[in-house]
Amino acid sequence: MAYLECFECDSRFDLDEIIYTCPDCGSLLEVKYDFDEIRGKTREEVLDRSEEGVWRYKEFMPCNKEVSVAEGNTPLYETDQLADWVGVKSLYIKNEGSNPTGSFKDRGMTAGVSKAIELGLKNVGCASTGNTSAALSIFAAKADINSVVLLPAGKVAMGKVAQAIMHGAKVISIKDNFDKALELIQEVSERENVYLLNSINPVRLEGQKTIGYEIIEQLNWNVPDSIFLPVGNAGNISAIFKGLREWRNLGLIDKIPKMVGIQSEGSKPFVDAIKNEKETIEQEMNPETLATAIRIGKPVNGPKALEAARETNGTAESVSDEEIVEAQKKLARLEGIGVEPASASSVAGLKKLVEKGKIGKEEEIVCVTTGHLLKDPEEVADVCKKPIEVEPNLDKIIDLIND
Ligand SMILES: *Cc1c(COP(=O)(O)O)cnc(C)c1O
Ligand SMILES: [Zn+2]
Repeated sequence: MAYLECFECDSRFDLDEIIYTCPDCGSLLEVKYDFDEIRGKTREEVLDRSEEGVWRYKEFMPCNKEVSVAEGNTPLYETDQLADWVGVKSLYIKNEGSNPTGSFKDRGMTAGVSKAIELGLKNVGCASTGNTSAALSIFAAKADINSVVLLPAGKVAMGKVAQAIMHGAKVISIKDNFDKALELIQEVSERENVYLLNSINPVRLEGQKTIGYEIIEQLNWNVPDSIFLPVGNAGNISAIFKGLREWRNLGLIDKIPKMVGIQSEGSKPFVDAIKNEKETIEQEMNPETLATAIRIGKPVNGPKALEAARETNGTAESVSDEEIVEAQKKLARLEGIGVEPASASSVAGLKKLVEKGKIGKEEEIVCVTTGHLLKDPEEVADVCKKPIEVEPNLDKIIDLIND
């Protein structure tokens, strides 16, 4: 049986209550399970082997599969050239860009929109730096319900807007940043009958925790030493930690990896809180980075993410936009993995922590790359050489090749 529990005061609520924060104290909510039906079962017995992806782990999900587009089941690449460049022996890339809309948000939305359907709701909404809106719109389309998305005007990569409008969402650009857009959609969801599917919604995080489950299965049930993630709203790092803690508590694995969150220097409220050992995260009022997916000043899942990093002996680090672009090029050119800038921050952050001696060269590391290269073609045009245009003349072409 599953229910909602307040992250701070432990009050319990029914899963069918449409609430996003604790009615008693205003804190974040979490989905909890008693796991009575699976306690004591083996690894084989707790998985649904007829499924791949998110719904393989349905015993760990708060709703049934009502809408799905074959999300999850993404590749885990073992790298060698990239591992050399970073300076570690063993580096895996969990490439979430391989999801149907090109980001891990699909995992959250298969759960979130399934829950909306179970609740009989017809309208879903979110604020988004882009990928959340792409994922929401595809699942809403498939489920034949309405979606509305608020985007920070001018700061969303083109591929993501293209997805949201093509899949039929009502797309509204707010002349302000993401944090303001999130505030507004929260108010919209209170006033209108719109089910909020930002990562403040604990059901969405349940879908995303399956990234961790897949990593463990793909490593033949070996637990890596660390998992590196880009951090924006800090939902993903919280979700993966939560999922792996459930598996550890059930005895399915014996430890939880160190959870390491990476942000961009222009937008690093989570990193500041970790480094300064703060109890709470202080909002960055003017977040700025070319990694628009993590251009977020006020991570809504802050308290959960602080716990994820601290309880696992993990950490946080910030990297410059230049370091992000460098890692993005290394992923693309050494391993053939094309990612959007935010995704590359996990690898850039790992390299930095190895150089600082905070991550050992012998550790087994997984970096999650969160979104696909094609999401942000404008960034590529800005940071790579343009194609050379010439007359259709063989000698000229050969000259250029030998240049
Ligand atoms: C949403 C997103 C993030 C940030 O994830 P959070 O759960 O908000 O921390 C990072 N990278 C990409 C590509 C994303 O779409
Ligand atoms: Zn509470």
